[in-house]
Amino acid sequence: MQQTGKMKREKPFGCGNFSVVGPVKGKLGVFGTKALFCKSYRCSRCRPPKLRDVRARISAAAETHKLNRMRTDRYIRECWRKMRVLLARQFGKSLAFVGVLEFQKNGNAHLHILVGQYIPQKWLSIAWQSIGGGRYVDIRFVDIHRVSAYLTVYLVGDKVVKTLELLPKRARIFTTSRSIVLYGKKDKSGWWMRRVDIGELYDAAENHSNVRSVPVDDLTPFGLELLSYFESPPFSAALGNRDVIGMLRSALPVWNHKKVSSEGSGEVPKTKP
Ligand SMILES: [Zn+2]
Repeated sequence: MQQTGKMKREKPFGCGNFSVVGPVKGKLGVFGTKALFCKSYRCSRCRPPKLRDVRARISAAAETHKLNRMRTDRYIRECWRKMRVLLARQFGKSLAFVGVLEFQKNGNAHLHILVGQYIPQKWLSIAWQSIGGGRYVDIRFVDIHRVSAYLTVYLVGDKVVKTLELLPKRARIFTTSRSIVLYGKKDKSGWWMRRVDIGELYDAAENHSNVRSVPVDDLTPFGLELLSYFESPPFSAALGNRDVIGMLRSALPVWNHKKVSSEGSGEVPKTKP
């Protein structure tokens, strides 16, 4: 009987048409239900919040790693790879960096690289030319408190859209050294995915609380916001065909979790499809 699900044609994931459900930390007997968004830069619904998020994360990483020298280079991915080898040799360690790709109106690709190491312009220029990177290397010192403002100029919706249009489908626009982690590890939350949208689960649940919605670009013209999260007592539609006893066993430690972070916020785990 367990296999019958496989026989059915599985509903394909689309932004917001699946949900994740699970026990809410520190709230005994409470389930959380969260809309599962695609979190893609290519999605007009997900791009603005994602960009806000990545800007905040880069700013935080810049602060932590003292990355305050912004470099505007003529873009060549391969050159940057070679350059990192030269830099590692020169400074005896691999440099921490965050890179953001951008295309100018004339089609020139640029790589903006944020590093924390002082690099003399002269050395950089010679090294860059030696690996075929061209003559232009622009070094700017950016005050650590201005990194966020700088990123706001370069990491905005239309620029990112343009960059993505010019890139192969799976190419990345952000690169970081291994020493920098923009997105920390997801904690094991004990949540699971349901192949139904949050609206359906909302209708099936009772006594909703902590209902949240988000403004999204594609609904704004209609004055609507998207339901993104709610809490409720456990309900059968949330379980799907999951075993109740097994679910309760894994939910209890989560429910009994002693809260460390602030009340009611930041407790919603992030889950990717
Ligand atoms: Zn999306």
